[in-house]
Amino acid sequence: MLHNQWTLHILQYHTKTMKMKAKKGVDRRDFLRKSVLGATGAVLVTGAGHAAGAGSDSPDEKKKMIIRKLGRTGIELPVVSMGVMRADNPGLVKAALDHGMVLLDTAHDYQKGRNEEMLGKLLKDYPRDQFVIATKVQPDGIDRKTGNPTKETSPEKFREMFDISLQRLQMDYVDILYMHAISAREMVMYKPILRVMKSLKRKGKVRFIGVSTHKNEPEVIRAVIDAKVYDVVLTAYNFKQDHLDGMHKAFEKAGVAGIGIIAMKTMAGGFQDKERQHPVNTKAALKWALQNPYVTTSIPGFTAFDQIDEDAEVMFDLTLTDEEKKDLEPVSLAGLYCNGCEHCVAQCRESLPIPELMRAYMYTYGYRETQKARDLLTDIGVMADTCSDCDNCTVRCVKGFAVAEKIADVTRLLQVPEDFLT
Ligand code: SF4
Ligand code: SF4
Repeated sequence: MLHNQWTLHILQYHTKTMKMKAKKGVDRRDFLRKSVLGATGAVLVTGAGHAAGAGSDSPDEKKKMIIRKLGRTGIELPVVSMGVMRADNPGLVKAALDHGMVLLDTAHDYQKGRNEEMLGKLLKDYPRDQFVIATKVQPDGIDRKTGNPTKETSPEKFREMFDISLQRLQMDYVDILYMHAISAREMVMYKPILRVMKSLKRKGKVRFIGVSTHKNEPEVIRAVIDAKVYDVVLTAYNFKQDHLDGMHKAFEKAGVAGIGIIAMKTMAGGFQDKERQHPVNTKAALKWALQNPYVTTSIPGFTAFDQIDEDAEVMFDLTLTDEEKKDLEPVSLAGLYCNGCEHCVAQCRESLPIPELMRAYMYTYGYRETQKARDLLTDIGVMADTCSDCDNCTVRCVKGFAVAEKIADVTRLLQVPEDFLT
């Protein structure tokens, strides 16, 4: 969707919802107290769902913090939160909290568990009602081609992994538990895992449950709504996606159903090119995603203090400057972000999991996260010479990616000694 069309779309959203929104700027203390009320269920969104219950887009003349409500969970959050995924320095988390961010997003497998451990050590010194924590567990045995569960998918293992996460975090409960990296309706609906998630919720080990997705997102979000048990969805969402119409329709339905929406991958890979000569204006990209009122908050993955300082400004003002709008205009470069649309998969003679391979490429050249990229390559079970039997690549990517070239490039990581990975 062109920027102008999107602006029009946003205006339509605002027109529909503005009458229902009350303006209220709050400081961190007030807002945390309200968050806790929401968290205990004292404040709940009713009827029209998330957009209607959303806090307030209220950058008034004093630039107060913009707070939104996370669907029916009632949790109130600033529009910027912290994705802890790439941070190994607790000082970064502390800085994010000091800036007024509240939601910290981690996962069972981030940094092989060290990410949750780092958070556990830091957060044991914080009052439990001063932050909101989300973690994610990916069920094992998911069929990589279809995204569906297999006979290897074990609810017991899922529960076991979650218990390990709780121990690492040194907490009695987490606020949100996601079934992680889901791309198929059947997996969203998979009853054995759902039973575990519901039981963890009943036992108070998890307050709210959700699904995270960065592939086939509109279908996943629709399934989340239809399952009628989930509270939150964490989804890839950015200005480089080619399927924004489907995303926006799914967001609207989810909002009406009271599902809270959190955006990730707003920075669309961080760079437009492998050589990192054309950076994405990440602040503009973040504002763009947050202009959709159905998005409660976003989780940029901070790795430096100046990134936190810069994105913290967005918590107070979502206005895109003319220069920022210009930076978001389509460029000839395809970028590093793969839509996860899967149009390529059926064209590949070997039915390779190309979206995952492209994600590993983005981790490598966009984020400089070679260890994470290699973990993903190992997880999907590809070999270093995976395309070598093909003389002529039959794949035509909708974004124009030279798929075979990128695969050959990124799979070289499988031959790099562990010590050299970042
Ligand atoms: S060269 Fe193209 S068609 Fe052949 S395996 Fe690689 S991606 Fe698939
Ligand atoms: S590589 Fe291209 S065609 Fe394949 S999922 Fe990504 S964007 Fe779609």
